[in-house]
Amino acid sequence: MNTVVFVEHHGNELQKGSLGVLAKAAQLGDVSAVLIGGGVKSLASEAAKYGAKKVHVAEDDSLEPPLPQARVDVLAKVVQDGGYDTVLFANSVLAADIAAGLAARLDAGLNWDLVDVESRDGNLVGKRPALQDSVLVDVGWKTTPRLALFRAGSFDAAPTDGGEAEILDVSAEFEEHSRSAKVVDHEQEQSSGPSIEDADIIVAGGRGLGAPENFTLAEELARALGGAVGATRAVVDAGWYPYAAQIGQTGKVVSPKLYVALGISGAIQHKVGMQSSNVIVAINKDANAPIFEFSDLGVVGDVHEIVPKLTELVKQRKGA
Ligand SMILES: Cc1cc2nc3c(=O)[nH]c(=O)nc-3n(C[C@H](O)[C@H](O)[C@H](O)COP(=O)(O)OP(=O)(O)OC[C@H]3O[C@@H](n4cnc5c(N)ncnc54)[C@H](O)[C@@H]3O)c2cc1C
Repeated sequence: MNTVVFVEHHGNELQKGSLGVLAKAAQLGDVSAVLIGGGVKSLASEAAKYGAKKVHVAEDDSLEPPLPQARVDVLAKVVQDGGYDTVLFANSVLAADIAAGLAARLDAGLNWDLVDVESRDGNLVGKRPALQDSVLVDVGWKTTPRLALFRAGSFDAAPTDGGEAEILDVSAEFEEHSRSAKVVDHEQEQSSGPSIEDADIIVAGGRGLGAPENFTLAEELARALGGAVGATRAVVDAGWYPYAAQIGQTGKVVSPKLYVALGISGAIQHKVGMQSSNVIVAINKDANAPIFEFSDLGVVGDVHEIVPKLTELVKQRKGA
């Protein structure tokens, strides 16, 4: 297997999801990384820490806007020149666009929404959840290059023992149409903590919070813990919290170190988005709530009584 991973960056940071895919690929064999954008060369050594033996760098200020087409040109050249037979992506809006464009350009098969991959008798086998995420099915590729897009949070972004990587400059030729889209405006969502994709701690709120304004309970606990706020679809649909925070089958899939569920019943569609969290703590007034079946620590009680006290305790501990 000769694998290359598209490593996405935002500002000066490589995205945790891509680093997780890189670290996973390094377990299966030699892996290279591709970095594309303005000023990305300085990030190349970071990719090496996650197992990349080679880092292909296409550094060009005109590539800074997060647009897919020019990235497809760069990746197509890297794959063809490097003889790569496997190209892996961590899902994001940008990565999904690039993967689709690259599949069309290379006439390659793309398996998407994978949560794992393994090498079996020399063949690459992907794992994809199906039937509302209740089962995992094996998927494969008939031809090379094999393209795969993984769900966010599928792999732990833990540095490997990887040392130095060979840094290789890429000078790609761009198709005429690749330069025709332009970013005309850029708005940054204001948020004080980490994003839910990157957070080690998530405090998620459900309908049990009782009213939209009670989300301050989740926000204050998240702030005290240094985490991010998540939400169930029930509260997102009710307009209590933005869709960007929705966790579950039709939202984001997360795997933080700690997941605190406040007033969440634990429906299967929510569970599939957070079940791989390291430690799950649930507070729910119903002792029979399904969430207790997959929690590491369950507290039967009213969120309005427990959460303010918990937040106070966390603040005291952190202050001490
Ligand atoms: C196709 C499909 C896709 C879906 N996708 C998603 C998805 O991506 N994410 C998602 O979350 N859901 C999704 N759902 C919806 C899902 O089935 C549930 O309806 C939803 O997760 C329930 O949200 P909840 O736990 O906030 O609300 P509820 O199920 O209403 O649970 C509220 C919980 O709060 C507890 N509670 C009430 N008051 C208090 C209190 N004062 N203190 C403590 N506990 C209290 C209750 O005991 C209850 O267990 C999807 C459904 C479908 C059909």
